[in-house]
Amino acid sequence: MKPIEFDAPTSLQDAIRLLGTDPGKVGLLSGGTDLIIQWRGGRRELSRMVDLKHIPELNVLEFDPARGLRLGAAVPCARLADFEPARQHYPALVEGAQLIGSMQIQSRASVGGNVCNGSPAADSICPLIVLGAAALVQGPRGNREIPAALIVTGPGQTALQGGEILVEFRVPAPAARSSSAYLRFIPRNEMDIAVVGAATSLALGHDGRTVTQAAIALGAAGPTPIAADAAAKALVGKKIDEASLAAAAAAASGATKPITDLRGPAPYRRHLAGVLTRRTIETAVRRARGEERL
Ligand SMILES: Cc1cc2nc3c(=O)[nH]c(=O)nc-3n(C[C@H](O)[C@H](O)[C@H](O)COP(=O)(O)OP(=O)(O)OC[C@H]3O[C@@H](n4cnc5c(N)ncnc54)[C@H](O)[C@@H]3O)c2cc1C
Repeated sequence: MKPIEFDAPTSLQDAIRLLGTDPGKVGLLSGGTDLIIQWRGGRRELSRMVDLKHIPELNVLEFDPARGLRLGAAVPCARLADFEPARQHYPALVEGAQLIGSMQIQSRASVGGNVCNGSPAADSICPLIVLGAAALVQGPRGNREIPAALIVTGPGQTALQGGEILVEFRVPAPAARSSSAYLRFIPRNEMDIAVVGAATSLALGHDGRTVTQAAIALGAAGPTPIAADAAAKALVGKKIDEASLAAAAAAASGATKPITDLRGPAPYRRHLAGVLTRRTIETAVRRARGEERL
């Protein structure tokens, strides 16, 4: 390990300035649970590390029933998981955050870092996609919003441009009679990367049976997270029954572009995408009806 500069700015402007001091060689550190491992392992060459944990804008965690959730990019997963409005209104996001590593990892790791690491298997990205979240990013030329579905552009790559920092996620207010769920499959109980992950968000009509809105996303099922629009379309306007569940699950399997690797062969991943999609729909429906909660 070579010695590097370390800064812990307390303002976003200072962090943006420091990021520009040595383009490509400055590492932004939220929790460091990816960054430090990559640096120590020689996969990232850094001249400077900029700790983002002391910047107020990146530590915002607020819910407003009309405006929705604001989640600062550096908020640790454990803090999100303890935030009652998130548990109540965005259970898929809390489920994703609670699957990241162990309690020790979650007390450091952020959803912002999970997404900026650019892994299509990250456990928070599919929940953000189905909840319609947008990322607010800020750089030397001002700020802009990126829809969650467009952030991860390939393995290890994101839509953030050089000099930009992810500030917060904005998640819209939940619709009436709506809820969500996230599930992943791993071959052991914890501390592993998803073989496949699936998230569903949906809203029900007054009858509590007909789906009025739906979004489904799949992780580790292709080079980027996949918004499985055909699977969501198979639900909208339909009652939840065996036919609509089977149609959504088949469409989810069909939306995957999986690889075969040591975690599992492509056909297995395709099958899992259907199974997990069906289960997340069933859970989201029970939650939307008030029969179950996280
Ligand atoms: C033992 C262990 C188990 C794990 N298990 C899981 C798991 O089950 N599921 C899972 O999804 N992940 C897992 N991970 C990976 C990791 O913990 C997560 O990806 C974590 O959420 C990353 O967040 P962080 O705050 O630590 O990010 P950091 O390591 O600080 O940053 C990650 C990347 O994002 C960049 N970055 C961070 N913040 C910003 C920002 N605000 N703006 C722009 N770029 C930024 C960094 O420069 C870096 O490239 C595990 C890691 C370990 C060590």
